[in-house]
Amino acid sequence: MQTNPLSMRWALDPIQTYCIEAKLPPLTSIVIGAKSGVPGTGFIGCQLDDLETAHHLVFDNDWSKTPNPYGAFGPADTPESLAQALIDQPENSHEIYAKVKVRGVAQTVFKEALVRAYGQQCAMCGLSIYQALDAAHIIPWSLATPGQRLDPRNGLLLCTVHHRLFDCGFITITLGGRTRYCDPAMEDGPHSPADKNMTTRLHGKKAYLPSNPALYPSREALEHHYLRHGW
Ligand SMILES: [Zn+2]
Repeated sequence: MQTNPLSMRWALDPIQTYCIEAKLPPLTSIVIGAKSGVPGTGFIGCQLDDLETAHHLVFDNDWSKTPNPYGAFGPADTPESLAQALIDQPENSHEIYAKVKVRGVAQTVFKEALVRAYGQQCAMCGLSIYQALDAAHIIPWSLATPGQRLDPRNGLLLCTVHHRLFDCGFITITLGGRTRYCDPAMEDGPHSPADKNMTTRLHGKKAYLPSNPALYPSREALEHHYLRHGW
């Protein structure tokens, strides 16, 4: 497995995730000489409780048998260009997924696409602080088809609080594009003012959906969420 310049553009985390998922030695990033093409002695690892063992695991492994997770990228591909391709042609998301198989990288591209589609606002409350926004899957990653994993129509840009409430099934988006909370009359117990602000106050309000209706959450994905959580 060799790194290429593109891999260096992403955070190290995707390779770490890839190694864990593929049950590879605890490699996060290996440094390869730009001219020689020869790996150096340094690497950045993960799960390193025992550095010496980790060192042996990484350097004794036959990496030539491990396909380069970035091998499908073309020289012009960037997270931004792939995200733009997703929102230009969401129906081709499976083709982008074929390039971006590493989950951490896919998540980076997916978030970038949703940030662009939703104008960097939480679909429920409008929060626009980038670091507090998540690319939420409506049909979860583990249940989604390869195409659905990157399809903006299977996504919602949500702040971290609304992401959690959505994943728990407490709040959702109606087919008509409105926020819906599971307990609008607050019958299930007391709500603090902050609770109300993030839940009942938003119930029935128009969601902050993409300006392009072609990127709205799909009926298929939303109905999957309703069914899973008994709406
Ligand atoms: Zn929010």
